[in-house]
Amino acid sequence: MPDNQESSVLEHITKLINHGQLPELDDSLKDIPGLAELHEQITQLRETLFAFSSGDLSQTIKSRGFIAGCLKSLQAHLRHMVWQVKQVEQGDFTQRVEFLGEFSDAFNNMVTQLDETLNALQKKEHALEILTSNLRNEVSLRNEAMDALKESETRFKYLASHDPLTGALNRRSFLDRAFAEFEAAAIRRIPCCLAIMDIDLFKAFNDTYGHLAGDATLQHVVKVISQILRKSDFMGRYGGEEFIFLFCNSTLESTGHIVERIRETIASSPLNWEERSLTVTASFGVSVAPEGKIPHDQSFMDELITVADAALYEAKKAGRNRVVCQKVTQET
Ligand code: GH3
Ligand code: MG
Ligand code: MG
Repeated sequence: MPDNQESSVLEHITKLINHGQLPELDDSLKDIPGLAELHEQITQLRETLFAFSSGDLSQTIKSRGFIAGCLKSLQAHLRHMVWQVKQVEQGDFTQRVEFLGEFSDAFNNMVTQLDETLNALQKKEHALEILTSNLRNEVSLRNEAMDALKESETRFKYLASHDPLTGALNRRSFLDRAFAEFEAAAIRRIPCCLAIMDIDLFKAFNDTYGHLAGDATLQHVVKVISQILRKSDFMGRYGGEEFIFLFCNSTLESTGHIVERIRETIASSPLNWEERSLTVTASFGVSVAPEGKIPHDQSFMDELITVADAALYEAKKAGRNRVVCQKVTQET
């Protein structure tokens, strides 16, 4: 090979290796044996290296030889690392990189730390779940206790305000409620009436049929009356076989009608007791406040009770099983 051609070959190979621009193979060099193949091989290696340098590992390296072998090995390592990173991304923290020196150490430390952090987080999450479940249990236990407390409070209030035998209001609750109703009625200037009922000859009834029959009769009488009373009216057990009523927003006339109906219903509603039909009657004393004015103090209510009691006495004296109405005359 002439000297000048040899230096052209050297110059071309140098350009191939060093120049950014790929040099064309000059026509004058194309016939030099092996040069075209060498040109092609270096061109392919340039393309592969350029692709690598811009992060593209997808190139298929067709060349053979030492440099191509090194590049294939580097490509395989880098592709494996990409796969490992994807594994880590999916939560596989067992991946370790043994290639690439300091990068390997940093990568492996990072994965170890990720693993530890995740473990710590999972432990905290588990502890939180236990805490939440304990709290839920505690809240539910407290709610149950509150419900039980409310239930017993309701039960207690009921027991404290009702007569255990008949379920009617007891005397104190009746009087408290009646007094409140009187106050409200006084403000609205509406009439209210009070009545006392006493079962006739109940001692003899007990003596004849027994105390248990007497108890059942008291329950029966209260049940029968409850079905007649208007929502605005209410009754209580005044004591023994005596009951007391308040008729709200009720005139003397309308109260007289209601009480008369109660009397008739009791007398015509026998209780079936141990295959017997037991009937009682009752007498009533009704007291009515003077029209137009309803004083709302305790002494006036006492007066209403006293007058109703006196009317009841009159009803008994007149032969029982009857209603006597009496007006309160005293202005307080
Ligand atoms: P009157 O017509 O004059 O009212 O006669 P009475 O027999 O009803 O009156 P008295 O006051 O002499 O008797 C009331 C009776 O009521 C006596 C008592 O044993 C009975 N009695 C009071 N409370 C109860 C009770 O809870 N159960 C039963 N079985 N009887 C009761
Ligand atoms: Mg009595
Ligand atoms: Mg009686």
